[in-house]
Amino acid sequence: WRPIEQKEGVVTEAISSVSSTVGGAEAPLYLPVGDETEVFAAAWRSGLPILLKGPTGCGKTRLVEHMVHRFGVPLFTVSCHEDMTASDLLGRYLLVGGDTRWVDGPLTRAVREGGICYLDEVVEARQDAIVAIHSLTDHRRQLSLERLGGTLLSAAPGFQLVVSYNPGYQSVLKDLKASTRQRMVAIELGFPPAEIERKILIEESGISDVEADNLIRLGQAIRRLDDAGLCEVASTRTLIAAAALMQQGLSFRTATIAAIAGPLTDDPGLRGGLVSLLDAYS
Ligand code: ADP
Repeated sequence: WRPIEQKEGVVTEAISSVSSTVGGAEAPLYLPVGDETEVFAAAWRSGLPILLKGPTGCGKTRLVEHMVHRFGVPLFTVSCHEDMTASDLLGRYLLVGGDTRWVDGPLTRAVREGGICYLDEVVEARQDAIVAIHSLTDHRRQLSLERLGGTLLSAAPGFQLVVSYNPGYQSVLKDLKASTRQRMVAIELGFPPAEIERKILIEESGISDVEADNLIRLGQAIRRLDDAGLCEVASTRTLIAAAALMQQGLSFRTATIAAIAGPLTDDPGLRGGLVSLLDAYS
C-alpha cells in the first residue's frame, strides 16, 4: 500500500453537489459519539475509501457533510436505487443543441475535481454500478470510462469514495464483493447515546431540556421493543422531526404521532401500541 497524502483545506471553498449542498462558513453540526471523525480524517488523508454502516437516520450523512466541510472539498451525494446504472455514476452522452456531448456523472466529477463521492444506501445499486467503483477502491485510484473511448482517470488529490448502508437491510445477493469491502475502512455508527442525542435534539430544534428528555426516553423505549414487528425504530432523525413540530406549537402527543408513530408503521395494531407508549412519556 502506497499511502497518499491529502491535506485538509486544499480547496478552500466547498462547492455544490449532486443532491445536497454543503456551504457556508460553519461546518454542519456533528457531535462525535466515538472516534469516527478521527478515523474518517485519517482514511481521507491516506486516500482510503470508507464503508459507513448504520441504521437509517443515525447520522451517516451528517458525518459526511461535516467532514467534507472540514476538508474543504466538494461533495457529490448519490442516493442509490435499484434502477441506477453505471452511466448514472460515470456519465453519458447527451443531446445538446443537436450535438452529442459527454456529461460527467457525479463519480467522475468527484474523481476529476478531488471531491468526496458519497454513495448513500449503496446496496440498493445494481451490480454494474458497483463494478464501476472497484478500481477506485484500490491503490491506483483510477476510473476507467469505457464509453468515453476508454479514458483512464486518476483521482485528483482530495478524492474519496464513501459508501453507506444499513446492515439491517443487507441482503446476501446485493452484498458488496468481499474484495471491495476489504479495501475499505469501516466506520460503524449506531444511534447516539442518550446524553449526546439529547444535545443533538436541543441544538437542532431548540426545544427545552424537559421536552428533549421526554423525547429521548420515548426513543429509547421504542428502541428497546423486541419483536414488535417494526421495520425501523425511532431514529435520531424522527426524534428531531418531532422536536421541530413541538417547536411549531404542537403538543408532544400530536408531534410524536405525526413524526414517529405514523412514519414507523401502517399497521393499526402496532400504531395503537406506539400511541399508548408515547402517551406514557408525554
Ligand atoms: P442517515 O444518513 O444515517 O440516514 P442523517 O445523517 O441524515 O442520517 O441524520 C439524521 C439527522 O440526525 C441529521 O440531519 C442530524 O440533524 C441528526 N444527527 C444524527 N447524528 C448526529 C450527530 N452525531 N451530530 C449531530 N447531528 C446528528
